[in-house]
Amino acid sequence: MSRPIEEKLLFEKDHPGRVGASVPPSDVPEVDPRTLFGDMVRGAAPAFLPEMSEVDVVRHFTRLSTYNYAVDFGLYPLGSCTMKYNPKINEEVARLEGFARLHPLQPESTTQGALELMATLQNALCAITGMDACTLQPAAGAHGEFTGVQLIRAYLENQGDARKVMLIPDSAHGTNPASAHFSGYAVEQIQSGPDGCVDLEALKARMKPDVAAIMLTVPNTLGIFEKNIAQICRILHANGSQVYVDGANLNALMGITRPGDWGADVMHINLHKTFSTPHGGGGPGAGPVACKAHLEPYLPRPVLAKKEGRYLWDRDRPKSIGKVLGFNGNFLVLVRALCYIETMGADGLKRASELAVLNANYMRSKLRPLLELGFDGPTLHEVVFCDKGLPGGVTTLDLAKRLIDYGFHPPTVYFPLIVHGALMIEPTETEPREEMDRFVEAVAAIVKEAEENPAYVKAAPHNAYRRRLDEVAAARNPRLTYKP
Ligand SMILES: *Cc1c(COP(=O)(O)O)cnc(C)c1O
Repeated sequence: MSRPIEEKLLFEKDHPGRVGASVPPSDVPEVDPRTLFGDMVRGAAPAFLPEMSEVDVVRHFTRLSTYNYAVDFGLYPLGSCTMKYNPKINEEVARLEGFARLHPLQPESTTQGALELMATLQNALCAITGMDACTLQPAAGAHGEFTGVQLIRAYLENQGDARKVMLIPDSAHGTNPASAHFSGYAVEQIQSGPDGCVDLEALKARMKPDVAAIMLTVPNTLGIFEKNIAQICRILHANGSQVYVDGANLNALMGITRPGDWGADVMHINLHKTFSTPHGGGGPGAGPVACKAHLEPYLPRPVLAKKEGRYLWDRDRPKSIGKVLGFNGNFLVLVRALCYIETMGADGLKRASELAVLNANYMRSKLRPLLELGFDGPTLHEVVFCDKGLPGGVTTLDLAKRLIDYGFHPPTVYFPLIVHGALMIEPTETEPREEMDRFVEAVAAIVKEAEENPAYVKAAPHNAYRRRLDEVAAARNPRLTYKP
């Protein structure tokens, strides 16, 4: 994996006069665009754009692509992130002209097919989650959390019962407390019991009239299913509180069990995880929110409706929390998700969940002789190990960095916080057994190296494009702008 070329930025490769296209000379008179468009044409100074030839550009991006690790290259076991392989048919469909070239401001009469697609997806998501209504607007999981918490807030305030506190277990995803805090709630942590689940006695003791809701990540970030979830819902509802389920990990549940049936009031779904949109580079995602009927009047505006056989956007929603995103959500992510759901079918989705759990448990049993588990209970779609017992003073970070030398993307590290030196592995259902075996062999080799030559492991990565970065300096003193 040696990479001899240090790729410069396009702006540093600028070569005045060099062009990447040959255009025949113009055979019509030149026109100053300002004579046609007036003030809409801004600024006379030409933009500074790098001047390059086609081969310069192609090589630049091709080289950069080889510096990247991708799920199309190999196992990407990043726990909680569900880096599964995304079938290429989704991409084909999302690129169809009728979808890709649609404008969000087109009149409804010209977009009936797209609206039907969205309505079909909403219905599918309601069926998968056991919920009554759904919005496709939110652009990501955390954005869905924010939207869902706003629904709870609007509902409670509408009852004249504004409450202040959001309960969140210590095994929740980190975005949960952030979303609750951002929505103006005081966040209170609920301790996990020794089994990694919510401590019911602690929960009951906390049931006071100031509790707006609980936010539960199910399965939680330990990969453990909240076995008392139905009882937790009853405890909260008896207190007049709501239950929010973080459904980003639906990969472990779909086709098997439904949050709506447990008693959850509202949840979000990560289409870019469970329903197969490539993610990880900050590209577009979608975090639809599904809820029970009592929260439906508060859904973001506009809401998709059907009258006399035609789809339309209903904007007359007086109780709505308002819009949470421009236009109608990240439409092409919705196209991919529906394509995935339709090609899988109900049986296929269930099978995917089963295989996601099977693969995680395969990794768990294969890695157990090498690493120590964070919690001993049964796990679903991911497994968390701790750093206890790593030889030679080697840390979780050292192991993760050395995995890069072996050609793997490292797992999620140091999360969840309740496991010391956590190493969180989620192979997903799309990994073949050989690839998982290759990963286990790499971990075994690194553990052996740690016994024999820990200093070498601690200095990893050795073969990567970059050596170990100073993460503290990067966080404390980030350089966010480019200066030539
Ligand atoms: C990924 C994830 C989120 C956040 O989703 P984003 O799309 O990254 O905002 C929330 N909860 C859980 C459990 C997740 O795994």
